[in-house]
Amino acid sequence: MNKHDRIAKVLREGEANGDGWSLELNTSSGRTVYAVAVAQNNRRSRTGPTWSYVFENDGWTSIDLGTPGSFETLKSAYSTIGLSPKDIKRVLISHGHSDHDGTVSEFLDDSEAELWAHQSYQPLKNYIPWEINYRKGSILQKELNRIAEEKIEPSKEDDSRSETDKNYFENRKLTVVTKHLEDGDEFSDLKVMSTPGHSPDQICLVLDDFIFTGDHILPEITPHPTSKMVFRNTISEKLPEFLKDPSELYGLGTYLDSLGKVIQLGDEYTVLPAHRLFNKSSFNWSGVERAGDIIHHHEKRLNRMVDKLQNKTSNLEETTKGIFEKSKLLGSNLYAAMSEIVAHLELLEDTRDITITTGGEISIQGSGTNYKEYISGLLKPGP
Ligand SMILES: [Zn+2]
Ligand SMILES: [Zn+2]
Repeated sequence: MNKHDRIAKVLREGEANGDGWSLELNTSSGRTVYAVAVAQNNRRSRTGPTWSYVFENDGWTSIDLGTPGSFETLKSAYSTIGLSPKDIKRVLISHGHSDHDGTVSEFLDDSEAELWAHQSYQPLKNYIPWEINYRKGSILQKELNRIAEEKIEPSKEDDSRSETDKNYFENRKLTVVTKHLEDGDEFSDLKVMSTPGHSPDQICLVLDDFIFTGDHILPEITPHPTSKMVFRNTISEKLPEFLKDPSELYGLGTYLDSLGKVIQLGDEYTVLPAHRLFNKSSFNWSGVERAGDIIHHHEKRLNRMVDKLQNKTSNLEETTKGIFEKSKLLGSNLYAAMSEIVAHLELLEDTRDITITTGGEISIQGSGTNYKEYISGLLKPGP
């Protein structure tokens, strides 16, 4: 037992992987928060269901909905708490990934609800995420895309899935955001924290002693960090001023800074994540110390990378092979693995622990230990 283990009143029992569970929770001040797990539709995702949270805060408020195609599942889940979309006054999206905002357009059509999201959400939802970046924005990005083109066969897309995705992106462009959230905003008892890194528009929401973390902090799995972003010119010119320099919204350093920010909140907060609250037939309650665990995971990876670079120059492909097992580098997995390594190399470049030549050769600079100081600074507990 840890102090975040709480007795949840089970309103509906679901599957071992979390699908279908419906819970009633209480904050320290006695406020009721409903948590329902919406199974992913047509997805072979390892993250499991998306948890949608519902509570009263100047009217019924929902956080996150689920994947495209899961609207009926969401409605059935809401019926277990005695609500329907028509009862909801506003929907807050933790970030613009399809497993969170996948059914927003149906929800808005079926209700009077407003849509609230981080101020970056609206301008970015007009684009398909993988089409916005200028793939030659840095030596590492150029290398990543060169190797990917050379080594990865384009996958034969499953037609029904790409059709669902297409509809999702088209519908998403048309949704209207009523409130553009910024760090520090407060609405009645709900506080907004901007926590970019996993996604540029990722927010955490604090209510009493609960923190709804979206994909910023997850139990069991380490959320995928973004790598740095250079927007294509044609897109950049259409973006608002605050997005023109995206360095504070993307990248591993940005992500780790945002984890440090949550640690500063202090130990009394309970993390309510968008995935894995329940898995393998048991609950995963945790506090902000989970943010520290995730920082340690990345620190270990950085340690291994720096170790391998001592006395030996390397490049992106070799560094990736040195960190991941062969089985994790097959097909499109290679891209995911390399982009994760790019994010870590970018951080080591920022802390001046490595240099990268224009030919993509990577070597240690100085003692290669500056990053350790940076990380221990993040882990210092808050007031
Ligand atoms: Zn996500
Ligand atoms: Zn997610």
